[in-house]
Amino acid sequence: MLVVMQSNASADEIRAICERIEELGFRAHSVEGTERYAIAVTGDLHGIESCGLEELPGVAEIIRISKPFKPENTVVRFPNSDVTIGGEEFAIIAGPCSVESREQTMKVAEKVAAAGARMFRGGAYKPRTSPYAFQGMGVEGLKILAEVRERFGMLIVTEAVDKEALEAIEDYADMIQIGARNMQNFSLLKRAGRSPLPVLLKRGLSATLEELLMAAEYIMSEGNRNVVLCERGVRTFADHSRNTLDLSVIPAAQKLSHLPIISDPSHGTGKRDRVIPLALASAAVGADGLIVEVHHDPDHALSDGAQSMFPEQFAAMVSQLRGILPVVHRTLSDKPVKPRAAVKPEAGRS
Ligand code: PEP
Ligand code: MN
Repeated sequence: MLVVMQSNASADEIRAICERIEELGFRAHSVEGTERYAIAVTGDLHGIESCGLEELPGVAEIIRISKPFKPENTVVRFPNSDVTIGGEEFAIIAGPCSVESREQTMKVAEKVAAAGARMFRGGAYKPRTSPYAFQGMGVEGLKILAEVRERFGMLIVTEAVDKEALEAIEDYADMIQIGARNMQNFSLLKRAGRSPLPVLLKRGLSATLEELLMAAEYIMSEGNRNVVLCERGVRTFADHSRNTLDLSVIPAAQKLSHLPIISDPSHGTGKRDRVIPLALASAAVGADGLIVEVHHDPDHALSDGAQSMFPEQFAAMVSQLRGILPVVHRTLSDKPVKPRAAVKPEAGRS
């Protein structure tokens, strides 16, 4: 929830509101808007409506977080590159589910880069349903991903399953993925909120839109405003696909939130022959981009082979997208991103 202050509210009035919020057992975080000051309230907000905050001096209005506060949309940018998510450019993130070996990763990277991907995905830390399944290569995998950036000029997106992984990722990657299973891991979200890297936040397996937006709020309330939402399918009674890709959430999220939202038709369907149709549909409903799994030998992939596209399918998807994107006023850049050195977290931010 946001307590928006009147434009002429005094520092004493703002302080008094923060004190009252804390007294009531909530947390207050200041948010400096371009024209007005606001206080974001977090905690269990049940019953807060009856606490009379709107009556206090200096308060202009109270906004439930699910309503837009910032009128302009967030465009996530990446240092030393012209890649954006949430602007005119349609973002495509492609790569294998997991980094399995240097050879496998380079093969896939070469193919997706040649087909026009400017961002590369690959899990070095894998959240697997079974503890006995491949758990990822860890830091060795991150080093391979950093080499992909140097060789092919793509930005690197990779998943942090916990705080330790997140800290390692900050040394090697360009964007932190928080997976569906961790969407409500609030301590991880808060740590991501203190990272200098943008965050790709995937919707939980059974999360509502409001829960997804509140998870994003956890990240932003710690200072990191560069959050991209991701629809990756939810659990339903449907048994013809692994998950049900909920494309209706894309315009719904765009109505309520200033954050970009991309679609993951790979996890959203679980089957590679469904990925292209759902990718095209995602573009058509106005998604800000896609994240898709691609493998040069999906039958032998260590994770998610059934939903991983062959490189030729990925190239076909990109070319079909070129037909749809002008209709929704989006562009597709395939200019390679200039390679750059890894971002180190600033001292004192971790
Ligand atoms: C993934 O991107 O490989 C992944 C594990 O996704 P999700 O968290 O959406 O299941
Ligand atoms: Mn996967």
